[in-house]
Amino acid sequence: MARRLDTYLKQLLGDDQFDFYKVVRDFADEEIAPQVLAWEREHRLIPDECIAKMGEMGLFGLPIADEYGGQGGKHLDLLLMGLAISYHSQSAAITPGAAISLGAKPLQLFGTEDQKSAHLPDLAAGKRMFVFGLTEPGRGSDAANPEVTATRAGDSWIINGEKCWSTNARWASHVIVHALAHPDAPAGRTTTCFIVPMDAEGVHYQEMSGKKVWEQSSTGSIIFENVSVPGSAILGTEGEGFKVMVNTLNGGRLFIAALALGSLAFALDKCRIYAEERIQFGNQPIGRFQRVQDVIVDMDIALERNLTWLIHCCDLYDKGHLSREQAAKVKVDSSRCASDLLVLAMEVCGGVACLDEFGLIRHHNDLFVTRVGEGSNFTLKGLIARPLREV
Ligand SMILES: Cc1cc2nc3c(=O)[nH]c(=O)nc-3n(C[C@H](O)[C@H](O)[C@H](O)COP(=O)(O)OP(=O)(O)OC[C@H]3O[C@@H](n4cnc5c(N)ncnc54)[C@H](O)[C@@H]3O)c2cc1C
Repeated sequence: MARRLDTYLKQLLGDDQFDFYKVVRDFADEEIAPQVLAWEREHRLIPDECIAKMGEMGLFGLPIADEYGGQGGKHLDLLLMGLAISYHSQSAAITPGAAISLGAKPLQLFGTEDQKSAHLPDLAAGKRMFVFGLTEPGRGSDAANPEVTATRAGDSWIINGEKCWSTNARWASHVIVHALAHPDAPAGRTTTCFIVPMDAEGVHYQEMSGKKVWEQSSTGSIIFENVSVPGSAILGTEGEGFKVMVNTLNGGRLFIAALALGSLAFALDKCRIYAEERIQFGNQPIGRFQRVQDVIVDMDIALERNLTWLIHCCDLYDKGHLSREQAAKVKVDSSRCASDLLVLAMEVCGGVACLDEFGLIRHHNDLFVTRVGEGSNFTLKGLIARPLREV
């Protein structure tokens, strides 16, 4: 059975890009799909061997320049990887996805030459991971005003506070900390980002427990107790910490949209096959009922439309022309459509959709993260509304 995702990508991509997608798809089919249920039932994070294989394939270095050991690809390569892997597991896809789009990307965009040459080669090889430390227990959507502080002490800075919901924390070598560093500066100039080694004295990491979304992805809380870093740890310009974070999130939001569409593509295939196999009322498949067809068709329309849109946004991103509103819109719409439609897909499949082995319930839970992660959809709608109010 041809996947609808393959059908559309074949139409939308050039041959080389489609071939790359197929390589990652085959890897996900062979190395992730057969294991994901066992990982889930055993409450395991992605095994180190799987991360190592993704590293060997170069998946952690997709858009990193060749001179730093990466594949020198485009942001689209990252999204194709996200689509191919999230078809089976968003957790597996977000591991290299966040390592690149939230970890390596800010370094690529804002790092000094010394910072890039010190870290990018190992990041590209998957031997090192940076995590994105924006969210705090008391600061989610209000991320521009961190409670984590950085205080100057001679040539060094002392960092205190807590970051949470940090994806990949378990495997992280460094965390990019967004901290209040200039409390007396004008609004918008009060924060700075710092690259902090996870093994620095005073850094404590704890895996967050009880999470029922992205179950195989590591999500940590990171506490900083008088952590001293040199001035050379500053990422970007002093007082422009939020600029680093906001620019990083544009690309990250495209990746979140790709995760949502990977889940939608899985649900569409699962649902349309089930609708033809499930026989009710006089030896007829439920796929003959118009209401069932209605759900399947809506999923198919959403997949084609949003894939086309996402690839267009990705092209704009690579050219440096993607606005914050455009990135927000495709993330909001892809996550909302995919999660709303997935509930209907589960309804089409009936009771069997409640079983973990059927796969839909995993995508259902994971799709919730795509609605709140990297800017909740409600908050992003406020951003999208701004230019609409200029009349
Ligand atoms: C699995 C997972 C992984 C994550 N990974 C990372 C990571 O790697 N790094 C990182 O820094 N963060 C990460 N996050 C955090 C994520 O970005 C935040 O959860 C998100 O920004 C929302 O913050 P909050 O959960 O504190 O919700 P809150 O900000 O408390 O919001 C609660 C509700 O109020 C609404 N709301 C708040 N403010 C507004 C507003 N201005 N307008 C309209 N509605 C509003 C929100 O939409 C939401 O519905 C992760 C989260 C999850 C669940």
